[in-house]
Amino acid sequence: MASKHQIMVGSVPIGGGAPVAVQTMTKTETANVGATLAQIETVAEAGADIVRVAVPREQDAEALKEILKRSPIPVIADIHFNHTLALKALAAGAHCVRINPGNIGGPEKVAQVVAEAKRLGTPLRVGVNSGSLPKHLRELEFSDPVEALVRAAVETVELMERLEFTNFKVSMKSTSVPDTIASNRLLSERIPYPLHIGITEAGTKWSGSLKSAVGLGTLLADGVGDTIRISLSTFHAEEEVKVAWEILKALKLRERGPVLIACPTCGRLQFDMDSVVAEIEERLRAYEDPIVVSVLGCAVNGIGEARHADFGITGAKDMGMIYCKGEPLRKVPTERLVEELFKEIDRYYAAGRVVQRDEQQAAAARAWLAENEDSGAMTPERMAALEAEAAKQDAEAEAVLAGAFAQGAPTADDEAGRQPPSATAAASQRVAGRRFSRR
Ligand code: SF4
Repeated sequence: MASKHQIMVGSVPIGGGAPVAVQTMTKTETANVGATLAQIETVAEAGADIVRVAVPREQDAEALKEILKRSPIPVIADIHFNHTLALKALAAGAHCVRINPGNIGGPEKVAQVVAEAKRLGTPLRVGVNSGSLPKHLRELEFSDPVEALVRAAVETVELMERLEFTNFKVSMKSTSVPDTIASNRLLSERIPYPLHIGITEAGTKWSGSLKSAVGLGTLLADGVGDTIRISLSTFHAEEEVKVAWEILKALKLRERGPVLIACPTCGRLQFDMDSVVAEIEERLRAYEDPIVVSVLGCAVNGIGEARHADFGITGAKDMGMIYCKGEPLRKVPTERLVEELFKEIDRYYAAGRVVQRDEQQAAAARAWLAENEDSGAMTPERMAALEAEAAKQDAEAEAVLAGAFAQGAPTADDEAGRQPPSATAAASQRVAGRRFSRR
């Protein structure tokens, strides 16, 4: 269930229907102000709405002041174990402070941090971690780890409410994808506060991205989760941001920059598509518009599969074609495909987002496509036509059958041996193998 409550982390709204915010965490030593700010700039450019920095020492809390002054995006101070550092981060003006009430030194210290956050109007992120659940939940953790995690989170929320503090978001961290999904679903039913979701210690760029896409994607598709962080084992925090954006774009929750569609390639591939796709992906980074660009490895299936793309290319040996919304624009030699594709895209923007079509060139491209198309291949259009024809025949057969039934219910003789009308026989053949059918 989507959260009802909204908080503001600096200028970024979290929860209560706000767009899902992308966040990441710097990997630098926070006290190294230059390096930390450089990484913050990089992640902000990649699309991070919020950034978190680790504050494990006095000098990191001290560095926060300068970082906060110069950061282009809101900064969350990440504190464990030491409530004094949390108080210092609040005093420095952090836009949010993350604490785990279970490890900050007891209820009194939690109360001190909360009182200061309340006084300053600063939100907190409060969370629980599957690795450090309170003692009284350890037994439950063995029998029902999801319920243990949720109970720990609810207890934390109740603690905040007893302290009359509601300016917070909640996170539950687990390395297990199923537990993360199940626990966040449950928690979202039990509390109205915004949820920070992530798969903790997800792994390398490859496996971590997949785990995160499965776990967070499932939750986000259900409307659960208000801010996300992808945790990857890489120094390059901007990679986490890129993955987060791909998840949000795939679910159409937010738009940012172009969307690249590329076929998986197969034995029909007729040009070096790997390098072409890589080059296109790289060059598209310079565009901010959510334009859709498609790359098909061959023209044998026509271009129907990419008919929703704003622009695209397909190739065959030494020649390729540029198309727009499923319609050919022109053909060009394969080695110039990428260059000419971007010329078309730029012409489109220069003309105020109007496609520049030369009818002669389009006709030549259409002719080339027809020559290269495989007339036997199952294009989406051909499959749709076949399915429509089969549906039509089914409907006709059903109509004949309904007429036969209207004339009276079948008798024992009918069941025993009367031959069905020919249309019924045809319909029966088409459902051969279906478990539940009339005959
Ligand atoms: S577009 Fe062509 S190369 Fe790409 S997967 Fe389809 S048939 Fe294979």
